[in-house]
Amino acid sequence: MELYEFALKQGIGDVSIPIVSKGDSIKRGQLIATCDNDKLGNNIHTSVSGIVEKVSETEIHVTPCGEESKEFIPLKSEKPIDLVQEAGIIGLGGAGFPTHIKLNHQFDEQGTILVNASECEPILSHNVERIVASTKEIIHGTQLVMEMTHATQAIIAIKGHHKIAIEALEKNLQPGITIHLLPNIYPVGDERAVVRECLGTLLNVDQLPLAANAIVINLETVFRVYEAIVFKKPLIDKDLTVAGKLEDPAAIKTFLDVPLGMKFSEMFDQAGGIGKEYGEIIDGGPFMGKRASLDHPIEKTTGGLIATEVFWDGPEKIGLLVCACGAHKERLTQIATSMGSEVCGVEYCKQAIEVNGTLKCTNPGICPGQVQKVMALKKEGAQAVLISNCTDCSNTVMSCAPKMKLPVYHATDGALRACNMRLVRKMRK
Ligand code: SF4
Repeated sequence: MELYEFALKQGIGDVSIPIVSKGDSIKRGQLIATCDNDKLGNNIHTSVSGIVEKVSETEIHVTPCGEESKEFIPLKSEKPIDLVQEAGIIGLGGAGFPTHIKLNHQFDEQGTILVNASECEPILSHNVERIVASTKEIIHGTQLVMEMTHATQAIIAIKGHHKIAIEALEKNLQPGITIHLLPNIYPVGDERAVVRECLGTLLNVDQLPLAANAIVINLETVFRVYEAIVFKKPLIDKDLTVAGKLEDPAAIKTFLDVPLGMKFSEMFDQAGGIGKEYGEIIDGGPFMGKRASLDHPIEKTTGGLIATEVFWDGPEKIGLLVCACGAHKERLTQIATSMGSEVCGVEYCKQAIEVNGTLKCTNPGICPGQVQKVMALKKEGAQAVLISNCTDCSNTVMSCAPKMKLPVYHATDGALRACNMRLVRKMRK
């Protein structure tokens, strides 16, 4: 049977400390690694019953045994915030910040919970699937989060074209909870973009949503908080999208409640098998995902697994235009190398500002102009540009680069081509 692997560093914070040993027999839901109360980090529970095969400083391996079952060992805590902490819940949209710390805040007066259901990255669709499958639970989870934080209202932020999910939410809304429809642009799901779109406040790059009396929480995180409080279930299952070059022509498949620790290869098998030829495996969405191997295990922040189109040949020299909310320089360089191109210049969108070693956009998704940057790359000898820009800025690049006789490649091309989706180029009116 396939081994399950549990990384001891999942999300933001310290490495978790193993509390099991090689040869131990463990049950699904059992705590296998902990994090001290005074440290940033999270508890880790096994998603399968089985035997511990290996414990190292970085991971725990488990060989499953016995019948596959959805049963689990329940959490012990009583208070909602303690259950969220004991469950090991972190931000499941990719950020991985411990949720009990985020929710350990009580608003004094007006406070808003912004449920981020934007599922901003193209291709990913498991959040919308979860809304349709568990609408009442999502609303209940939102109420629980409001109670914990004394919030006076909650807004579910979702892209306007998800008609079925919106209809399901509308039928189940409760007092104090409303829906805000987002435009279908990237990166409208950025935390500060969600605050801007829903509350009309543009936060500075170093401000948290609390500066606007708001807490932003991912849709699946709300669902897992509901499970932890109502069923005392630890975070052991994850929703996922598997897509791209699959044997089955339906190139985008969603899976709910996949056990954590399962290998990526197993997920592609469950999706009908990976295609014979593909470029790379992306762990995450087309914009922010990173290259991964099929041996990699599903972790708490895993959302998408995409087998991309085979890499196409690029020009001899290529210029990179880097976005704060898309593929960064290293990732773009990796793609350029796979295209057989040498990087001759690197430019950054002027709204991409470095904050504590991370690039942040001063106004996500609203283009400040890119002509000068493209001209600079041309001067540096670029025969084409490889960009990671947001939808609006890619549109601007397309208004100038072709006039300079520079072909445009986008970091998301391989993933989108593999799913037969429209490429990020000129925006539709
Ligand atoms: S404005 Fe610039 S930094 Fe901001 S999202 Fe668009 S390309 Fe990225």
